[in-house]
Amino acid sequence: YLIVPLRVQAPAWAALVLPVRRMLATEDKAALVQMARTTVEQADAAHAAYLLRRTAERDALTGGFNRRTLDQHAARECKLAGNHKPLSVLFLDLDWFKRINDTHGHPCGDECLRKVAATLRAELRPQDVFGRYGGEEFLIVLPETDADAAASLAEKLRRIVSGTEIRLPDGEITCVTLSAGVAGGAGEVLRLDALVRDADAALYSAKALGRNQVYV
Ligand code: GH3
Ligand code: MG
Ligand code: MG
Repeated sequence: YLIVPLRVQAPAWAALVLPVRRMLATEDKAALVQMARTTVEQADAAHAAYLLRRTAERDALTGGFNRRTLDQHAARECKLAGNHKPLSVLFLDLDWFKRINDTHGHPCGDECLRKVAATLRAELRPQDVFGRYGGEEFLIVLPETDADAAASLAEKLRRIVSGTEIRLPDGEITCVTLSAGVAGGAGEVLRLDALVRDADAALYSAKALGRNQVYV
């Protein structure tokens, strides 16, 4: 075998592996060089397109979907659910978050947002849609999940986040809590705007009732 390492952009790597049954002629070598060149160009173009798409779709701080992509994925899930599959929406908002910034500074606030987002995402399924709705607000769309199951998940997320210690860049360790609004439906024509509005109203109730809780 002839193994030719190709210089593609990290973290990708590539090699051409060719069974060679005879000595390579000059024209074989020229064809090989051309093949390697084309492969490298294609791999680098694919990598650049991937990075561009990721940057366009994701929130830089938390890695979740940005608002525009979140809306698109949420609308698609709602359409897929149609009028026969359940679908739920969680609206999460960190409690008293301004205090974190005021006390520790914005880089520490940013670290909290990163850590909370990572903690939340670790609990979700691949098909769940997670995004940053606004500043310290996250929206999660749960396909094939009714309101009861969504409420259980929200409670689990609330408990895990409230029990997670966050090491801040200033050397301090802090904890944050979140409030969650849950809205879900099934067996009816689901409307995304209505689900989000209901989850938002539920979140408002969770805040009014004292925060660090889930309201359905
Ligand atoms: P509540 O419990 O009522 O939600 O109180 P709160 O302090 O969390 O809510 P408020 O809306 O008063 O403040 C939200 C804060 O979130 C203010 C803003 O500076 C902060 N914030 C929003 N986006 C970011 C961000 O990207 N980084 C940092 N560090 N802070 C952010
Ligand atoms: Mg908020
Ligand atoms: Mg808040």
